Amino acid sequence: MLLLVDLDGVVYRGSESVPGVAKVLADRAAAGDTVVYVTNNAMHYRGDYVPRLAAHGAPVGPDRVVTSASASAVYVRDHMPSVRRVLAVGAAGLERELRELGFDVVTAAHAATRMSQEGIDGWAAAGHPDAVVVGLDPQLTYLRVAAAADCVRAGAVLIATNKDPLYPTERGFRPGAGSVVAAIETASRTMSRASIGKPEPYLLEAAAKLVNADPREAVMIGDALTDVQAGRAVGARTVLMLTGVTTRETADHLPEGERPTVVAADADGLASVLAALADG
Ligand SMILES: [Mg+2]
Repeated sequence: MLLLVDLDGVVYRGSESVPGVAKVLADRAAAGDTVVYVTNNAMHYRGDYVPRLAAHGAPVGPDRVVTSASASAVYVRDHMPSVRRVLAVGAAGLERELRELGFDVVTAAHAATRMSQEGIDGWAAAGHPDAVVVGLDPQLTYLRVAAAADCVRAGAVLIATNKDPLYPTERGFRPGAGSVVAAIETASRTMSRASIGKPEPYLLEAAAKLVNADPREAVMIGDALTDVQAGRAVGARTVLMLTGVTTRETADHLPEGERPTVVAADADGLASVLAALADG
């Protein structure tokens, strides 16, 4: 089976392992399952997750992690062949993913600096990009929003890595990529053309494509309702874990159209449901 596995709230919570989950995944991989990790987090380069996941004991290789940043780069390459130059609003991981696929990348930081030093608008400062790709930018400034909005108003296509309104941290909730996207959509009076991360299907489609699999054959394992929604959107079976943001109470009262295939309370529950799903 292909297992598409969310990270935060499933494999780990912050820096802590979720007890037993990495071992369950390692056992499944040893038995022949393919494990690909899928995260909406657009800040980190996907390769940076490899040592981190290995430290938790999870089965992982260099090409077994897809982020909403890497999937956005793939999406633009595959769906928008005329795009060459991209304005990246986000952290270093987003910039790197776009560069790796051959895009001519200018950062919002660079464009904002030119705007203020040279007194030019964001479109000129960014060198007339064809697309604006937006993730969580922890260094976001007013001028970076202005640069992105100028580019979109001038005709650059707006792509959201994801629209998560919030980003959970050990110090509580912070604004997520969706909050940054909303600022640029509002300022440019233009809705983003696509949002790549969960609950939309593109992140999971990119993950399945990476291992030449059909996403309809996959099992999506996640702790949020957006994981279930994304899984349903690609026709995958879904396992909702109660190890993260979703409570038993919420899971038990979902309307018909939002229910996962199965709910698993913890690692033992996950092992049982995956054994059952593997048996068909
Ligand atoms: Mg999660």
